Amino acid sequence: MTTPHLDTKFPKIGTTIFTVMSALATEKNAVNLGQGFPDFDCDPKLVACVNDAMTHGLNQYPPMTGVPALREAVADKIESLYQYRYDATSEITITAGATQAILSIILAVVRAGDEVIVLEPCYDSYIPNIDMAGGVAVRVPLTPGTFRPDFDKIAAAITPKTRAIIVNSPHNPSATVWTREEMLTLQELLAPTNIVLISDEVYEHMVYAPLQHLSASSFPGLAERAFIVSSFGKTFHVTGWKIGYVAAPAAYSAEFRKVHQFNVFTVNTPVQHGLAAFLQDPQPYLQLPAFYAAKRDLFRQGLAQTKFELLPSEGSYFQCVRIANLGVPEKDLSEADFCKWLTSEIGVAAIPLSAFYADGFDQRVVRFCYAKKDETLKLALGRLARL
Ligand code: PMP
Ligand code: GLN
Repeated sequence: MTTPHLDTKFPKIGTTIFTVMSALATEKNAVNLGQGFPDFDCDPKLVACVNDAMTHGLNQYPPMTGVPALREAVADKIESLYQYRYDATSEITITAGATQAILSIILAVVRAGDEVIVLEPCYDSYIPNIDMAGGVAVRVPLTPGTFRPDFDKIAAAITPKTRAIIVNSPHNPSATVWTREEMLTLQELLAPTNIVLISDEVYEHMVYAPLQHLSASSFPGLAERAFIVSSFGKTFHVTGWKIGYVAAPAAYSAEFRKVHQFNVFTVNTPVQHGLAAFLQDPQPYLQLPAFYAAKRDLFRQGLAQTKFELLPSEGSYFQCVRIANLGVPEKDLSEADFCKWLTSEIGVAAIPLSAFYADGFDQRVVRFCYAKKDETLKLALGRLARL
């Protein structure tokens, strides 16, 4: 048998850093603070809700756009938190997680040669997704050191070919949260344009006091041009369930659904019914900031005893640290090699920030995920204390 040669369409795409670091963490039996996922279970009530749906025969295809009760629950949640009402029938679509949502949005919106502005560092699927659509990613750096948006640079990147901009707050990997002033500046900047906003808000329920999540849906000039993306995987500690949603004006949702229906068609039924029931109580997501703030504080207090230099963690479940002042020679390795060394020799996995830049920009910063049991965080801190 001779397999005909297949010329790669995507020579620049390798295996994601999350897969690579998790595999190494498993191989080395390291504490995995690399890939972002909780090491604790979800609320048993949520499992019971899904179980209930399954045992009551809710196991066939749901409507293409999602189970109506779940779309209603999402519309209610958005309205109660951000004071903007999406129409559950024409403006909310349930997706197979945020990853599928973002790819489908980009395929629906971006034509060959269109430019899409991304703010680096950015989540690692954005640029490959733009490539897959035949678009051109225009990379604009967030301000070095603080990771705040630089609106002069963003404005300078806008051309007649700019079709969309992707914004992510709370931000992966830097853990920054956009301020009201930043949201208003974005709104003003986009007002005279036809640019579509893709607002990745998967960490919307992980913003720490005194800050608040500012959804693009709560700014009329942004909501009118935005695809809002969120993920139940993050909110309810079920990253493996791969379920989320897109909220967007009816005309945008209609275009999105053209892709969605031929991409996944539908998203698994019992989980949708289970989430619809579970969402009737807002407490689980309203209590999330306090839950994660305690983990963040425990982790930061431990790291403060080391030579890692802590960056702020305003939102998300990530903590970035500078490695430049560590007392070990490995501090001079590239971020990626440092993370491999840290995993293999110290027994704690982390993610290099360079993985979030198309050119591998290295600023001596790595990311830890603190969505872990307290005992896991303490175990990791004990090992990191050696540095
Ligand atoms: N966007 C960002 C910023 C993320 O961190 C993640 C989580 N990996 C996703 C999108 C994808 O979310 P999901 O797991 O729901 O596909
Ligand atoms: N969002 C998670 C992270 O940034 C993991 C996503 C993934 O494994 N693709 O770590």
